[in-house]
Amino acid sequence: MQKATYEFISKQLNDRILEWRKCSQCTEEFPIFQKDQEMLEKIAPTVGGKKQLFATSEFCPDCRARQRLVRRNERNFYSRTSSLSGKKIFSLYSPDAERLNKKPKRELHLRTCDKCATEMISVYPQNADFKVYCEACYNKEVY
Ligand SMILES: [Zn+2]
Ligand SMILES: [Zn+2]
Repeated sequence: MQKATYEFISKQLNDRILEWRKCSQCTEEFPIFQKDQEMLEKIAPTVGGKKQLFATSEFCPDCRARQRLVRRNERNFYSRTSSLSGKKIFSLYSPDAERLNKKPKRELHLRTCDKCATEMISVYPQNADFKVYCEACYNKEVY
């Protein structure tokens, strides 16, 4: 997005631009809005009497939107221990992202494709009562 577009948004929303950052991916400049900063301060946990601020994004809104799409393809996941079951699981979101977005937890399962038996990671467990295909089989089925 153009700098002028951000400035327009800033005026429309009456949200001050605190600083400009360079996106680590496309190197375009994007603003940190006052409300973004306030939000970060609001959700920051206090550790030992000190506010622990989450880092503001290093990516522009366009790249962030693209990254969300990539994540939906389940290519980015994080291995960690489930707070629900205590078992090792895969998550689509980093622990930080989960805290920030308060997204409902989607746990991923290591399972095999119902067609070619390739090992894969899916949001559906092996015992789901419907067929789950790997990406290759899925694409063959659809196209
Ligand atoms: Zn970018
Ligand atoms: Zn398959």
